[in-house]
Amino acid sequence: MQLGRRALRDVVALAFFALVRLVHRLRLLERAGLLLLVRSVLLAVPAFGPVLVLAWLFGLRHGRHVPGAGSAKPDDTLTSMREPLVDGWGREIKSLRVSVTDKCNFRCKYCMPAEGLEWLPREEVLSFEEMARIVGVLADMGVDEIRLTGGEPLIRRDLPTLVAMLAETPGVEDLSLTTNAILLDRLAGPLVAAGLRRVNVSLDSLSHTRFAEITRRDALDRVLAGLEEAERYPELSPIKVNCVAIRGFTEEEVPALAELARRKPYVVRFIEFMPLDADEAWRQDEVLTGGEIRALIEERWPLVEIPAKPSSTARRYRFADGAGEIGFVNPVSEPFCSSCDRIRLTADGRLRTCLFSRREWDLKGPLRRGASDADLEGLLRWAVQHKELKHRINEPGFVRASRSMSQIGG
Ligand code: SAM
Ligand code: SF4
Repeated sequence: MQLGRRALRDVVALAFFALVRLVHRLRLLERAGLLLLVRSVLLAVPAFGPVLVLAWLFGLRHGRHVPGAGSAKPDDTLTSMREPLVDGWGREIKSLRVSVTDKCNFRCKYCMPAEGLEWLPREEVLSFEEMARIVGVLADMGVDEIRLTGGEPLIRRDLPTLVAMLAETPGVEDLSLTTNAILLDRLAGPLVAAGLRRVNVSLDSLSHTRFAEITRRDALDRVLAGLEEAERYPELSPIKVNCVAIRGFTEEEVPALAELARRKPYVVRFIEFMPLDADEAWRQDEVLTGGEIRALIEERWPLVEIPAKPSSTARRYRFADGAGEIGFVNPVSEPFCSSCDRIRLTADGRLRTCLFSRREWDLKGPLRRGASDADLEGLLRWAVQHKELKHRINEPGFVRASRSMSQIGG
C-alpha cells in the first residue's frame, strides 16, 4: 500500500518536472512569438490551468537549471538559455580572451623575438563578424567576461567597431582590453564610446632606457600619454598596469612602480614571467615571484591583503596607509588552475583551453563552412570538456605551449 503511494508520488513528481521542462521549452518559443498562442490554448483547459501556472512559475525561477534543458540539441533559431559551459573537471567557463591580431608594434623580450616572427596571412585572421558570432554562442552559455588582446589589439583597424558589436551582445557583462597603450591616447575615447569598460596596460619600467631595453622600442612617453588619456574616462577606472616580473631586471623597477600605484589611480600588478617567450629563453630561476616582490615593497610600505573573487588570478593588497592597490599574479609560484574559468580564441580562430595547451580546436574552418550555432556549441563543449587540469611548469618534463604569448593572446 505504502509502496503504491510512493510510486504514485513519484509519477506525479515526474509529471510535474516533465511539465516544467515543457514550460521551459515553451519559454524558448517566446522569441518566435508563438508562446502567447500556446499558453492561451493550454490555459483554456480548466483542469490544466492551475498546474500549468505553478509549473510556469517554477520554470521561471529555475529556468537555467531545469534538468536537461537545452542539453540534447540546442535549437538554432532560439539562442538563449543554453546550459552553462563546464569543463571535464567541473569548472564553469565564464571568461574568454579574444586575440584580435597576432601583430605587435613592440618586441618585448619576454614575449616576442627581436625579428623574424611571421605574421598570419590576412585571410587567416577572423573578421569582426566571425569573432562576434563565436562570442555570441559562448555568451549564451554563460561566458560573460570578454577581454580583447593580441599581439597588440590597438593596431587592428576599426577596433571600436568590434567593441561596439561585443558590447551589444546579450550576456556580455564585462568587456575589457589588454594593451601596450602606445595608441591609447588616440583610441581611449572611441573605445569607451563603443562600450569598453576596463583596460589593462603593460608597463615594465618607468625609466626610458630600461623601458626601451625590455620592449626594444623607445616609446615610454607615448605609453604614459595613453595612460593619462585613459584616466580621463571614469568608465575605465580602476586602470590596471601590468609588469612582467623577471629576476635581474624587475627588482630595480619595483619602488617606482609601487609609487605609481600610490600616486595614480592605477592598480599596479606584477605578473610572474612564464615560459611563453618566443625566444624560448625562459628559465625557472628568472621568475621573480610575487612573494619576493611583496617583501621588497613591504621594506618601505606595509601591505594589507584584500579579499579577491575565487576566480581571480591576482592576489590583491592595499597599502596599509590607504594610498593605493598592488596585485600579484603568481601562475608559477602559486598556480591558480583549480579555479581557472578561462578559454582563449586566437586571431586565426582556434580555441585554446589553456595558455599552455599543446592542442587547439579549429573554429574558423567550421564557421566558414557554414556551421550552425548548434554545431559551434557542440564543438565548444567538446573542446572545453578536454580542458587541461593544470599547467605543468613546475613539473619535470614540462613541455612548452605550441605557440608563444603574442600568437596566443595573453
Ligand atoms: N600587447 C598587449 C600588451 O602587451 O598588453 C596585449 C598582449 S600581451 C601578450 C598580454 C600580456 O601578456 C601582457 O600583460 C604581457 O606583459 C604578458 N606577457 C607576455 N609575455 C609574457 C610572459 N612570457 N610571461 C608573463 N606574461 C607575459
Ligand atoms: Fe607586443 Fe604585448 Fe608581446 Fe609586448 S607583451 S611584444 S606589447 S604582444
